[in-house]
Amino acid sequence: FRHGEASEVVVNTPDGPVVFGEHHPLVVVAGPCSVENEEMIVETARRVKAAGAQFLRGGAYKPRTSPYAFQGHGESALELLAKAREVSGLGVITEVMDASDLERIAEVADVIQVGARNMQNFSLLKKVGAQSKPVLLKRGMSATIEEWLMAAEYILAAGNPNVIFCERGIRTFDRQYTRNTLDLSVIPVLRKLTHLPIMIDPSHGVGWSEFVPSMAMGAIASGCDSLMIEVHPYPAKALSDGPQSLTPDRFDKLMQELAVIGRAV
Ligand code: PEP
Ligand code: MN
Repeated sequence: FRHGEASEVVVNTPDGPVVFGEHHPLVVVAGPCSVENEEMIVETARRVKAAGAQFLRGGAYKPRTSPYAFQGHGESALELLAKAREVSGLGVITEVMDASDLERIAEVADVIQVGARNMQNFSLLKKVGAQSKPVLLKRGMSATIEEWLMAAEYILAAGNPNVIFCERGIRTFDRQYTRNTLDLSVIPVLRKLTHLPIMIDPSHGVGWSEFVPSMAMGAIASGCDSLMIEVHPYPAKALSDGPQSLTPDRFDKLMQELAVIGRAV
């Protein structure tokens, strides 16, 4: 069980420090699944910033189920993220899949994401633990809470204390109406077991944009510290995860709805 006070993960974004933690305001991470081109990433950054987000997300290296699906633009996408970061003032969160890309990603990203499919890639966990950028550790789609905690322990043991947990839905038996089953019970459970901040990603959790807002509100009411929401200017044209992406207008409305609920602590 947890010993002591909640930890804070402090991230220095261009617009100043943002703190993830139990006793701090909600931190919102928003943006497209993948960085597709300069116009869309800069436009999305501007819109989510105006709506109140603190971080821009966007994949450069994408873990796709099919090798024939769009794999991400790689290094050129990192350059576009750097540009969007500069013009918007938002911090940037992007995923590392291969340790050989880590150094280059760390030059651009304020927080490094380890995706669900790599949650137990222990050599990658050791490497993100041996560098200094905070790490967003997504829950594996079939990972128990104990396995998830131990994955975080790999990063901490390697010397990096700045880990944020992100629930993104787990595999259950129904994939007809939801992509995954969003496990909101991890919020009170992790709160009891760990001092580290807790993020919820309802977009990958449910897989359909129409269900994202109510799950985001449920997550806040349950006391999460942060939300990750996929936002795309033209969801129908997205190269990945369009069906679960909110438009900037819908995201803006969600941010207003969230402010009304407030953050449970
Ligand atoms: C993502 O955040 O775009 C992603 C691929 O998430 P996950 O690892 O949770 O599937
Ligand atoms: Mn995605």
